[in-house]
Amino acid sequence: MLVNPFDLHCHSWFSDGTLAPSEVVNRAAENGVECLALTDHDSTAGLEEALHTAHQKNIRLIPGIELSVSWRNGTTLHILGLNIQKDTPELQHVIEKLKNVRLHRAHAMAHDLKRVGIHDAWEGALRQAKAPELLTRTHFARFLVERGSAPSISKVYKHYLAQGKPGFCKSEWLSLEESLSAIHAAQGLAVIAHPGRYSLSNGAMQRLLDSFKALGGQGLEVVTSNHTPDQTQYFTQQCFSFGFRASCGSDFHCPKESRIDLGRIHGLPVGLTPIWADWDVTLGQ
Ligand code: AMP
Ligand code: MN
Ligand code: MN
Ligand code: MN
Repeated sequence: MLVNPFDLHCHSWFSDGTLAPSEVVNRAAENGVECLALTDHDSTAGLEEALHTAHQKNIRLIPGIELSVSWRNGTTLHILGLNIQKDTPELQHVIEKLKNVRLHRAHAMAHDLKRVGIHDAWEGALRQAKAPELLTRTHFARFLVERGSAPSISKVYKHYLAQGKPGFCKSEWLSLEESLSAIHAAQGLAVIAHPGRYSLSNGAMQRLLDSFKALGGQGLEVVTSNHTPDQTQYFTQQCFSFGFRASCGSDFHCPKESRIDLGRIHGLPVGLTPIWADWDVTLGQ
């Protein structure tokens, strides 16, 4: 069975995961993870509970976050902040800003879904959320599955919530600069999450990596549950050519929905410098 002791990307019910932070940590420990980063979307609310459980279970919990970013012409990117000091005012300031963006977008999404006859999406999405101040598309997606509009979460995105479909509402997240400043103010390392998932041409990807490097970005998530072997190889090469460190994470959200469980990811390709190279982590104790 595939076990990577490092899993540096996952979600709890403080964003769009379905498990409590304590349940995420317990599950990771049972799966053989020894160093886990909890990286909820735009929130640090689950970190205290996760740190508490990790201490009891004797596993290392890295405080993290996955920030939503709008890049240039409006491409949404996800930037991980790893090993952050979560209470840093600059970080909490951008979290407040993102909460507002999410609130407005969620209202707009519920309104847009009315035009296809779905009138109770606001209440429906709220029902799915344990942390009602942070609504994501996933909460709307779960509601749409529950009401029978689509058979699965992934099918929802074919007919709803994706660009050009009912319920999709464009939003202005942080700029790349703002996200990196906040992560660096919090003494964290900035990592581009699942870089293979963005629909960018090779040229645009090179421009993104140039900008990210120039802003002091440190790493690429080379190993993630949604990369093909070719993408893993491509981003390994980019780490070498740009001098980035490499990270690995399952992006686990939910036992029923996620294809890949906590820790069930490959190790980093040989020769890469891991993002945790300077952390004080001793495993196997
Ligand atoms: P949001 O940040 O609110 O726009 O929500 C984005 C989240 O929706 C992602 O983090 C994923 O968890 C989920 N998501 C987006 N697209 C898909 C998809 N095609 N299939 C399944 N989940 C998706
Ligand atoms: Mn998510
Ligand atoms: Mn993401
Ligand atoms: Mn994620």
